[in-house]
Amino acid sequence: MMYRSTRGAQSVKLDDALVSGIASDGGLYLPESLPSFRPDDFSGADELKDVAYIVLEPLFKASSLASDLEAIINETFSFPIPVVDLPVETGSCRLLELFHGPTAAFKDVGARFLAACLVRLQGDIDYPLTILVATSGDTGGAVAAAFNERPGIRVVVLYPDGRVSERQEQQLTCWGDNVLSLAIQGSFDQCQGLVKEAMADEALTKRHRFSSANSINIGRLLPQTIYYAYSSLSNWRKNHREASFIVPTGNLGNAFACYLARKMGLPIDRLTLATNSNRIIVDFLSGQEWLPSNSIRTLASAMDVGNPSNMERLRADGGEATDLAEQITAKSVSDEEIQQDIRRNFSEFGYASCPHTATASFVWRTLSTQEKLAFDWILVATAHAAKFEQTVEPLIGEEVPVPRGLKDILKKDSNVLQANPSLPALAVALDESF
Ligand SMILES: *Cc1c(COP(=O)(O)O)cnc(C)c1O
Repeated sequence: MMYRSTRGAQSVKLDDALVSGIASDGGLYLPESLPSFRPDDFSGADELKDVAYIVLEPLFKASSLASDLEAIINETFSFPIPVVDLPVETGSCRLLELFHGPTAAFKDVGARFLAACLVRLQGDIDYPLTILVATSGDTGGAVAAAFNERPGIRVVVLYPDGRVSERQEQQLTCWGDNVLSLAIQGSFDQCQGLVKEAMADEALTKRHRFSSANSINIGRLLPQTIYYAYSSLSNWRKNHREASFIVPTGNLGNAFACYLARKMGLPIDRLTLATNSNRIIVDFLSGQEWLPSNSIRTLASAMDVGNPSNMERLRADGGEATDLAEQITAKSVSDEEIQQDIRRNFSEFGYASCPHTATASFVWRTLSTQEKLAFDWILVATAHAAKFEQTVEPLIGEEVPVPRGLKDILKKDSNVLQANPSLPALAVALDESF
């Protein structure tokens, strides 16, 4: 399988797409073609890891990692991904819980997969690879956790100072060793811009051997297709109906993975995106121009993205707004609505949901009775509520129990440097730290 750039330059092998992150023409990588499956192709594949192997094998053809695929899958999916029933009155509604990994958000899946691949491809103790990762809160912690103490690779985490939750910040800054944490005096979009700028700087790239682990890296997207494949197949086996997903969306990485899974033939019907008040995707799908803007702050902070980078993939693959609007719907959810739903999920289902997950449940509640009945809905639960306890606990009037992995992280010392969102400031921090 070769991987092509959304902007058309020549195609590369998976290994090169994983290592460079972004194509030489500035575009993002996509598989040249997608394998095509039918539910029957998965008979006997009862575990998530079995499904993962079937889906990923054709995507790893011609990669030097093909023979390591099983090990990579084992390292990635080392925690449970359950689908939990919600006791709703109308139709069927379930939660796909993606937050049982080491840093309690779905970002663990992509980060661990990418780490497993890059360590095998690029680890070099004498000339370490430096992974730059801009984060709106969860990616950085997941990537740092995935690469921490793995030889031959360093991680630099850039996050917007003051715009992540306290526990997220602890997850971004508690690693030491091969991880450098930078609190950038700016927004997530500025952090993301800085990573792009750094990677375009030849001298700096050569000095530090940059790679990126943002959701622009195809290695983040591929493993995310697996939980859509697995949960939709489970639903298919049980009900003989396709599953429909509501995905909390910021940079569009998670939702795009669902889109890919559906395109590969997995039994998926509707794909609905739930955004916070950053409504650029919603406006675009309703026919307005694609107008990237600065992100605004919301309670679902990991989705505070004003210029979702994976839109470039969606547009390269799915066409313009009118075509896309036939395949995807999107709704924007305000902070008041997020709060309302955190309360309702707890009072109606006894379920503590994080602010991101609450955007999905809110969108589900806005569906008509007919829509609730006509589809088997699965809401994607992207983070554990304990990560956002300062928002969630006052609303539900109870403490959210902290999962064990998060507890361990909260006990560690933290270490962080402040930096301006400028390339010279980043260069100084890098040169002094490594
Ligand atoms: C990153 C994140 C999102 C948004 O996912 P995208 O792939 O950027 O659309 C939603 N919820 C949580 C908890 C996240 O960490």
